[in-house]
Amino acid sequence: MYAARRWSVQHARTLQRIYDACARLAPLFAPALRLIGARRAERWLVPLEHAAKKFLFDCKMCGQCALSHTGMACPTNCKKQMRNGPCGGVRPDGGCEVDPAMRCVWIEALAGARLTGAPSLPALLPVDHRRQNRSSWIPVIEARQPELLVRRERTSSVERPPDERPVSGSFEQACRSGRFVVTAEVAPPDSADPAALIGRARAFDGLVDALNITDGAGGNCHMSSVAASAILVEHGFTPVYQVACRDRNRIAIQGDILGAAALGVRNVLCLTGDDVSQGDQPQAKPVFDLDAVSLLGIARAMRDDGVFASGRKLETPPRLFLGATANPFVPPHLDRIANLERKIAAGAQFIQTQFCFDVALLESFMREVRARGLHRHCKFIIGVGALRSARALRRMASMVPGVHIPEQVIARVDRADDQKLEGQRVCIETMLAVAQIEGVGGVHLMGHRNEDVLAQIIVESGLRRAV
Ligand code: SF4
Repeated sequence: MYAARRWSVQHARTLQRIYDACARLAPLFAPALRLIGARRAERWLVPLEHAAKKFLFDCKMCGQCALSHTGMACPTNCKKQMRNGPCGGVRPDGGCEVDPAMRCVWIEALAGARLTGAPSLPALLPVDHRRQNRSSWIPVIEARQPELLVRRERTSSVERPPDERPVSGSFEQACRSGRFVVTAEVAPPDSADPAALIGRARAFDGLVDALNITDGAGGNCHMSSVAASAILVEHGFTPVYQVACRDRNRIAIQGDILGAAALGVRNVLCLTGDDVSQGDQPQAKPVFDLDAVSLLGIARAMRDDGVFASGRKLETPPRLFLGATANPFVPPHLDRIANLERKIAAGAQFIQTQFCFDVALLESFMREVRARGLHRHCKFIIGVGALRSARALRRMASMVPGVHIPEQVIARVDRADDQKLEGQRVCIETMLAVAQIEGVGGVHLMGHRNEDVLAQIIVESGLRRAV
């Protein structure tokens, strides 16, 4: 089945032509469909459709066939059920983060779309789960295709001048001011006592513009990001509340965003999230009802249009400053910008990248960002971090999908007498180097439960002084 699926992508141009011809002819069957009745016709059509599409595309019958938009690669084969991939965990050889034996579905989709002459992949709406196991062709015959694509009639974040947006908090002000921002990651504790969280946050007093609260990072359970963010607001910090699509469906996420805003949390970083297989509870059910692009669109509509995803009106819309992630360091390098553009068009106002250990790769990514003018609409904050030893770097490079560490960086730390100190020097050099790249608007320091070292690095870099 996998071989047939890859063959279909390789022959995407021919299959697209067949699809277009069938879609043009399909409405001719409308009178016959009315005679038989759509429900009865669907009972006969579904097994046929399933057999053919299962064989050719490994189709899971989501009932909203997007093959003609995705280069004949079926999105239902994405292990995170993304409708707008690829995720940031693609392996260096193009393998899937979750199933390395499989090529990333979205890399396949990009290759297929290129064969059909499509300039890029369009933004797809989240799946309507009610259509599971329904025919995709009945609506085509009835000339009422279900809505698949995100409508672009509204002004996107890319097109809207940044200064027209309402200010929602101090982090947004810092981003809008044009100054170089510094943010850091704080790991929520494995505790019902907020003291540890507040203690970790205090390490960054006066050093950062915001503190990122991870949401079950790596698929591991900790204090919830929304609760930890609210606790930090209460204690005078500026949190960035991370929301991963892995653990909650769209109803729960919208409720959490409203609740967070009611508690004074304004900054929301929208992520698809790591797969559960990365964490300590791999037996958990991954949700992935939304992906980062859909989540951004929903959060933005809540803020700008005052509506839930259903269209139901909100009494008081949340004031939000929305962010997304990007990973310039993994394949498909050239197409990462298109994915980023979809996120910015969906509503991202700041972008936070994966760990940067390869400044040259970041430079070529930022060159493309500048060529498309994206840095004028979005703050680009580059992820950096320091690991304790060459062994830890090697382990991260091989075990954590989406993290790229060049061998010469590992070798440099390996040669040093004090590996911990050398890791910190590499981090500071990277911070200073990325600060020189046009379009880069800040750095984000990451490191699990390494707050004191990260705070020290900020001071030593000279980017901020301790108060
Ligand atoms: S690498 Fe990510 S986007 Fe690609 S198929 Fe796997 S889970 Fe989906």
